[in-house]
Amino acid sequence: MLTPFPMKMRPRHMYHGWIKNLDEVLYFYMKSPKSYTGEDVIEISCHGGVAIAKAILDRAIGAGARQAHPGEFTKRAFLNGRMDLVQAEAVLEAINSKTIRAAEVAAGHLGGRFSREIKAVREALINVLAGIEAGIDYPEDDERGRVRKAGSIIKRQLKVIELAIEGAGYGEILKEGARVVIAGKPNVGKSSLLNRLLQEERALVTERPGTTRDTIEEPLGIKGIPIRLIDTAGIRRSRDKVELLGINRAKVSIEKADLVIALYDASCGRLEKEDHELQGLVKGRKVIVALNKSDLGVRLMTKGTLISAKTGKGFDRLLGLIAKALLKGMKTEGQTILSSRQLGCLVKAKQSLQCAVKSIRIKAGNELVALDIREAIQALGEMTGIEVSEEVIEKIFAEFCVGK
Ligand code: GDP
Repeated sequence: MLTPFPMKMRPRHMYHGWIKNLDEVLYFYMKSPKSYTGEDVIEISCHGGVAIAKAILDRAIGAGARQAHPGEFTKRAFLNGRMDLVQAEAVLEAINSKTIRAAEVAAGHLGGRFSREIKAVREALINVLAGIEAGIDYPEDDERGRVRKAGSIIKRQLKVIELAIEGAGYGEILKEGARVVIAGKPNVGKSSLLNRLLQEERALVTERPGTTRDTIEEPLGIKGIPIRLIDTAGIRRSRDKVELLGINRAKVSIEKADLVIALYDASCGRLEKEDHELQGLVKGRKVIVALNKSDLGVRLMTKGTLISAKTGKGFDRLLGLIAKALLKGMKTEGQTILSSRQLGCLVKAKQSLQCAVKSIRIKAGNELVALDIREAIQALGEMTGIEVSEEVIEKIFAEFCVGK
């Protein structure tokens, strides 16, 4: 279907030609194993537009090709040893990245740096295991010295795994954006606060209580942290069905929030029933108490940061507080973006190694230590795909879209 069709194509050289009677195209050939999948690949670049691309696809299918399954390219790359599972999943992360920083972290994983780190941990553990197993066979050798050395190597590997898990906390925020929920009684100024934070009129601002019925979600960056700002319907008991749904959703939003901005009316002399309800809802959560409408005078004695969504007073401080609260306890260097599968593997490895360290400390016997190390090795192998079931592989690639 390509004209003219060169009898001898040089790999990685761009050719110009025609899809007969259809489109002028550029195409090139990548020879195995130097392609994404590790197989011979031809890529055709046609003019944009769904119709042309589809017609070319139909011609190719007519000539005997078939369409790739979702994720098939990356799956083939994995099966042909071009990448491991951490890298394959990073392809998915890169595609799904919502922020540049998340894409950068995904790119780091794609490049294999993180995989190499995990593989190095696994190799180190395999060596330790070999030493300990030799000890089981020849217990008369320098037993105590060997076990002590094994203990310190295991602890070092444990540290690497723990750091990777810690890095995933902020990685998750990079990936999805931190969920910051604005909550408060009707008319306290939630929509106005959201608007001012977004610096645009997104949410409806009205003077009648209880009109923001749905939760509104907006992406936003505060001091470089990607945030999903969520305005909830007022916390209020109501007989109105629609309103009730909104309130339930507000409660659910608070439960799932990374941070709650609990809003109270500074100009009001005392807290009302709904305010007390909100205090109950946010108990034990990361929360910033903000007292709005401070431009009308401050009569409320509750402790909190004074703001005015109307004039913008106190907003610099509020932004600082939001960033500080979100980053508290987070490691912002060396982030990792882990799929829940990868996190599961790392946690399993961590627990096994903790058991191994404990077994060594209480001198529980080398067989037990070996068992724990073997479990950790297996979990890390599952993570990178060295020891992984067909079922897991199918599940991972099912999440990809066609053409990747
Ligand atoms: P929501 O129901 O909590 O979303 O509250 P809205 O944002 O819709 O605000 C309710 C009313 O309070 C509107 O008339 C706003 O203009 C007003 N409002 C909100 N914030 C402030 C503020 O800081 N100062 C003053 N004076 N009025 C405000």
